[in-house]
Amino acid sequence: MLNKSDINRMRDAYWCIVSGSDLWLVEGALPRSKDLDFELPLDDAIEIGRYENLPVMWINDADIVAELTLSSLRDCLHFPQALFLLVSKAVQYGHMSQTLRFCPQCGGRNRLNHNQLAMQCGDCRTLHYPRIFPCIIVAVRKEEQILLAQHPRHRNGMYTVIAGFLEVGETLEQCVAREVKEETGINVNNIRYFGSQPWAFPSSMMMGFLADYDSGELKPDYSELTDARWFNIDNMPPVAPEGTIARALISETIETIKSL
Ligand SMILES: [Zn+2]
Repeated sequence: MLNKSDINRMRDAYWCIVSGSDLWLVEGALPRSKDLDFELPLDDAIEIGRYENLPVMWINDADIVAELTLSSLRDCLHFPQALFLLVSKAVQYGHMSQTLRFCPQCGGRNRLNHNQLAMQCGDCRTLHYPRIFPCIIVAVRKEEQILLAQHPRHRNGMYTVIAGFLEVGETLEQCVAREVKEETGINVNNIRYFGSQPWAFPSSMMMGFLADYDSGELKPDYSELTDARWFNIDNMPPVAPEGTIARALISETIETIKSL
């Protein structure tokens, strides 16, 4: 148990206790200091931001003795955006500390540098910052229809927009055009930026675009997709959940179609 001086040192805060893309929630909410009725190595906790005037603390589940039942970061999608972003940040730092344990430069042992929020090699002292993987995501419109695809990894039959990782030497716009072409056989034009969302599954940066159909016949790549179709907005399948940039892109395209 925490002793009194620990509790005084800790004050009130939000706690992100993370492992992989999972974290500890109390009745679906991010725990506050009062919820921590177990021993906590306070010196390992790091403030990663503030939410509603309270510090938001990150600590790895592996550093905690108590056995906690963790929930998926996906269960936090309905949090206010500012809080979801902080929780995502904790998950990504957790991922960094778990996957960058050894120095890519010399193979030495890395430790967390609390000031830099990066891993640092104990031998060559090189700092290794969290890796972020750029990924485009795009909603394609053809007159009054939207292009949606179904992925084998989505077991609930959900459809969503096209997404894919940026390759080296490629602009974001080229990546958008290539991913749509590869996955569906469609050529797009009028590619424009929409917005972005850090996506800590485990460490992507989703960069959202809108695009229009240009030419080509729909030919889904069945090695990547289970289906891809043009949908009318009055006959939509189950789509990506609220809180995702995929859903925001779909909603934006629906609004565009309604205004035609
Ligand atoms: Zn090193």
